[in-house]
Amino acid sequence: MKPLNRRNFLQAAGIGLSATFIKTSKSIAKEANWPIVLCSRGEEWGPKVLEPAWELLRRSDNILDAVEAGANVVELDPEDTSVGYGGLPNEQGVVQLDASIMYGPTHNCGAVAALENIKTPSSVARLVMERSDHIYLVGQGAKQFALMHGFKEENLLTDKARIAWLKWKENLSDKDDWFPPADGDYSAEKRPTGTINVLGINSNGEIAGITTTSGLAWKIPGRIGDSPIIGAGLYVDNEVGAAGATGRGEEVIRTLGSFFVVEQMRAGKSPQQACEAACQRIIDINGGADKVDFNDKFVAVNKQGEVGCASILGTKEWQPKLAFINKNGFQVLKGRSLINR
Ligand code: ASP
Repeated sequence: MKPLNRRNFLQAAGIGLSATFIKTSKSIAKEANWPIVLCSRGEEWGPKVLEPAWELLRRSDNILDAVEAGANVVELDPEDTSVGYGGLPNEQGVVQLDASIMYGPTHNCGAVAALENIKTPSSVARLVMERSDHIYLVGQGAKQFALMHGFKEENLLTDKARIAWLKWKENLSDKDDWFPPADGDYSAEKRPTGTINVLGINSNGEIAGITTTSGLAWKIPGRIGDSPIIGAGLYVDNEVGAAGATGRGEEVIRTLGSFFVVEQMRAGKSPQQACEAACQRIIDINGGADKVDFNDKFVAVNKQGEVGCASILGTKEWQPKLAFINKNGFQVLKGRSLINR
């Protein structure tokens, strides 16, 4: 495919950001190319995350700045309870964040895990990549590194997240000393999930990605999910494309899900087929559809700027989606779930 030159790109970039369409993966694959930015959210968060990222691409064509700007939007928003500030805490009421970043042209990457009191873990992950000879920093070490680079130490536990945690704690057992209020009608069974993947390709065909999360709600302190694990929650290879995962991290780690998606694309699958293959792999190693009571979702973009999205589970009300902006404007792709209940 012929890359857009800078002039074409700047012209293309201004077109129709506000138009929203829902299309099938087949029709999108024909039109899409790069530059492109995409994220693992739909109509609500897609524009909020992608418009600043696209704006940055328009100005500088710097793909790392673009995906970071997109990820920062969710990290800084206290309303989102699955990423950054406002994320749901671990079982002790402490917010611990995980994030990773990867740059396709060099295979450089960086990640932080169990990071406390810093609102933008993806930016710290980027610094680990760019300002250290390491890839992973966790816990206290990650925090010290962030503080040394001028990040501010802040309280990440919002009232909304604290109250959700308290409800969970009060409902854990009828044999401990924690009582829910008499009129409490809340159930302790739901473990909310979220996370966001932001992937992109600039006008030179450089690919980058970020995955950022507060991880599994009420997790054991120190638990690290798939999001900061390179190859699990994120993988980028400039010859092939990029992929990111959300959902039950333990399953994505033991299948190296995002690496699997990229390798499937390398072997010739479309992004849609590759995401579905990763979901199928998780179903298979768990012994089939009957055994699966959790969800995982993959999003992917290939070197041509084609996108795909699939989840293990889906319902009438919920199907996997991704949002992207390319020269045709903002669009939402409805993916496919392999098991519908
Ligand atoms: N994958 C994340 C984790 O396991 C959670 C999520 O995506 O909701 O930490």
